[in-house]
Amino acid sequence: LGEFKIEEVAEALEAIVGEKNTIYEREKLEDYLKDETYPKLRLKPVADIVVVKPSNAEEVSRILKFANERGIPVFPRGGGTGLVGGAVPTRKGIVLTTERMKGIEVDRENLMAVVEAGVTLEELIKAADEAGLFFPLHPGDETAHTGGLVATNAGGVRAVKYGVMRNYVKGLEVVLPTGEILKLGGKLQKNNTGYDLMDLIIGSEGTLAIITKVILKLHPKPGASATLIVPYDDRSTAVNSVPKILQSGIIPLAIEYVERDLMEKAAKHIGEEWPVKEGSCYLLIVIVGENRDQILYESQKIAEVCQQSGSLEILFAEPKHEQEKILRIRSAALPVLETEKMVDGLDTVVPPASIGEFIDKVNEIAEKFNTYFVVAGHAGDGNMHVCIMEEEGISLEEIAEIRHEIYRAALELGGTISAEHGIGGVRLESLPLCLSRKEINLMKQIKRVFDPNNILNPGKKVPP
Ligand SMILES: Cc1cc2nc3c(=O)[nH]c(=O)nc-3n(C[C@H](O)[C@H](O)[C@H](O)COP(=O)(O)OP(=O)(O)OC[C@H]3O[C@@H](n4cnc5c(N)ncnc54)[C@H](O)[C@@H]3O)c2cc1C
Repeated sequence: LGEFKIEEVAEALEAIVGEKNTIYEREKLEDYLKDETYPKLRLKPVADIVVVKPSNAEEVSRILKFANERGIPVFPRGGGTGLVGGAVPTRKGIVLTTERMKGIEVDRENLMAVVEAGVTLEELIKAADEAGLFFPLHPGDETAHTGGLVATNAGGVRAVKYGVMRNYVKGLEVVLPTGEILKLGGKLQKNNTGYDLMDLIIGSEGTLAIITKVILKLHPKPGASATLIVPYDDRSTAVNSVPKILQSGIIPLAIEYVERDLMEKAAKHIGEEWPVKEGSCYLLIVIVGENRDQILYESQKIAEVCQQSGSLEILFAEPKHEQEKILRIRSAALPVLETEKMVDGLDTVVPPASIGEFIDKVNEIAEKFNTYFVVAGHAGDGNMHVCIMEEEGISLEEIAEIRHEIYRAALELGGTISAEHGIGGVRLESLPLCLSRKEINLMKQIKRVFDPNNILNPGKKVPP
């Protein structure tokens, strides 16, 4: 990477996007130096940066050509809600934010939308809804940007029925680190032309290209929905019901696993009350369908499966405001965990049918280290967030050992260490646990082909 003065970088960027869209005064940079990574894991940012706010692919192209010629690191940034330090500038350079790219066009005839990278999840959900359509994906923070959702291949609560972000993306406009603008895919349901560069860029965490525009698949708005809160007395019984629900032939929109203590605190955090008094843990199951009859039939069937697997009395929520309240409480879990001194929230995933076995191993690990974990997660996807809590006397070495053992438990069951949060700069050292040397080398070579001067988000996603 090159030698450069921040002042000359700022001057060159001002010539591209204008003075008011370039920031380098230290006191205005604070918000661009961090993301939502758990405080104990945060990367140390470098404050010697210029923030640039391009409004379209052409401006991004000019910025990247300049940075590439001069060897200046560029850190792409969306909503800054990432949990692995992906958007954090770790070297002197440029932070490129997509916050001014706000265009959104819903194409009702094709059930798609063309969305610029800076449109937030909240804006996207609203625009789809106003057009009578549905964008189901819901990772917990609606201030995430569409570009960030694609770059991280986000998952979240509603992935059981419709999949993760990758399953929605039909086309991308991207700018390569060398400045070329590519249009990949299109409003197509099928596309087998050449290697799938679009799929490679989805989930690449800002290391291969800057995403400027996305063509997304939307779904027809469901005619009816319901949320079931299914209480259980213990973790194993709760999670062991999940494969049985999936095997029943009904695929809910979401199957979440949560625990009572956390839900009560999350509800209080947002001024609500958790509506169930029974049980120590729950499955939250969301069902969507064409009409009420279908919802009632599917809810009944799922309730029978849960009761046969040991659940307590189930709460059935149908009014929209009640269902939204439950989702809001669930989404408040993470901020509460942070105030509860969570050290790390792991993002492991195992095959859905192995989730019970995984939780048994997690309980054994807690016993072995004489500690406790809060567990919450997208149980229907086999994606459980095991949260390691700070306890008196627990050392950093012990935390690393615990993390390692939980990762091993997931890997032994055919799982992996990151389902949805990604690798960023925080999970890099664990990558060799689950990828072979050959795989890592292939990834490094791919990075080099896209980014020969290693300017785009250097030191993230793939080991240097
Ligand atoms: C309360 C809370 C709950 C969450 N729940 C979930 C969840 O359930 N599931 C889940 O998957 N995630 C979850 N997340 C994590 C986060 O919201 C997602 O990873 C989200 O997709 C990040 O989007 P962002 O715009 O904030 O990206 P940022 O944090 O800004 O960036 C994330 C990564 O993407 C890159 N990037 C951003 N924009 C672009 C672009 N236009 N082009 C190229 N690269 C880009 C960045 O360089 C970085 O590597 C949660 C976060 C919070 C705070």
